Amino acid sequence: MTCRCTFSICQVILWSTVLLAPQVLAQVDETHRGAAGIRKLESKHLTLYTDLPVDAEVDQLPAIFDQAVPQWADALGVDQSRISNWRIQACLIQDRSKFDAVGLMPPGNDSFRHGFSLGHKLWLYEQPTPYYRRHLLLHEGTHNFMATQLGRCGPGWFMEGMAELLATHQWDQASGQLVLRHLPASPSEVPMLGRIKLVQDAFRDRQALSLPAVLAVDNRQFLETKDYAWCWAVARLLDDHPRYRERFRSLLAHVQDRGFNARFRSLFADDWEELSVEWQNFVATLDHGHDIQRTAIDFQPGKPIAGDETVDLRVDQGWQSSQLMLKAGETYRIVATGRYQISEDEAGPWWCEPGGISLKYHRGNRLGVLLGAIDPGDGKPLRAAHFLEPWVLGLDQTVQAEHDGTLYLCVNDSPGRLGDNDGTLRVTIQHDRRPRLRSSTPIDTSRFQFDNER
Ligand SMILES: [Zn+2]
Repeated sequence: MTCRCTFSICQVILWSTVLLAPQVLAQVDETHRGAAGIRKLESKHLTLYTDLPVDAEVDQLPAIFDQAVPQWADALGVDQSRISNWRIQACLIQDRSKFDAVGLMPPGNDSFRHGFSLGHKLWLYEQPTPYYRRHLLLHEGTHNFMATQLGRCGPGWFMEGMAELLATHQWDQASGQLVLRHLPASPSEVPMLGRIKLVQDAFRDRQALSLPAVLAVDNRQFLETKDYAWCWAVARLLDDHPRYRERFRSLLAHVQDRGFNARFRSLFADDWEELSVEWQNFVATLDHGHDIQRTAIDFQPGKPIAGDETVDLRVDQGWQSSQLMLKAGETYRIVATGRYQISEDEAGPWWCEPGGISLKYHRGNRLGVLLGAIDPGDGKPLRAAHFLEPWVLGLDQTVQAEHDGTLYLCVNDSPGRLGDNDGTLRVTIQHDRRPRLRSSTPIDTSRFQFDNER
């Protein structure tokens, strides 16, 4: 999907006018509209004109839109009392000549590819699946809401990132409930959306974008679908992450500021490097149902190992600091014990020890096997690579550290499946004076370079 959500100067002026003036929707000649085969569907917040035939999926769109409006208000910090009379006029178009004939297309802005929003109006062409049709309506509707309630939508990445964040939804036909800000648990939940796959494919093809590259997305020109995927990914990470969420949401108060991106950089200046590591980890491991809160890394630098050190590790979380410092060239024995639940399906829980289970694999290693990584710490290049190409430690492993750094540990599992894990394991780390059994191999960091680091 692409949508032309441009902020040309004239449109900014129009939006300013809309904000100052009472909400006025165009008068449509009802006789001509009916004769042209355009139906009119109405609800509390939406007037929908469409030339699509009567269809349950189409005809419930106004009711779905009505459920989105209070959720937008909550998510975007708008008082519910301000939205009671907020209305949008939308055109859902199959044959645009019919809309041209009755003057419903936007004059001077009718070259959009899929969707377009302006003030209190939006337009979208018919889409290949009911999910995608709803998604595009909610995407454009988010733009309308931000533009008219917040005054603007911020720079391109924020505007499209928020629209994608708030358009990705779960619609339960049986209960009639809409949930925005949904992170799909499987592709079948969001037919043809493909945002997660686009990011996965880009990382595989070494085309992943750095944070600065996403911040530079300019939606004053036509964007490609992958641009929307990157904007969604940044918004998704920052909106869900326990350390970044509050700062990210505070930016909603500054969508009219020309220095928005500078403010963003300033807000995250103190932990920009850690944010970059987490962004690269997120992109490299992104999965359906990705649990950002469970995979958030609490960066805790290590102290030198005094003797036998013991660490208790949760199996329902991602990387966790051992708070132990390993020294370059020194050899360590790492022994793990415990029994824990690593998965649950129709057959019940899957039990596991630190060696992992041989019937299920994730990223080429046994599910549930203990992994280790040395984070070299601030100022070191390509820190994320060490988390993305970890040691496979298992029950008992001897390793030689390639560089100084803090030992991080986790069990091998998809970031989308940590919620069905349960239990802990105990890991003992000690200097090893015996002949070395296994040396770590240098990491191929070239796989993990992001565009601005090449
Ligand atoms: Zn858009």
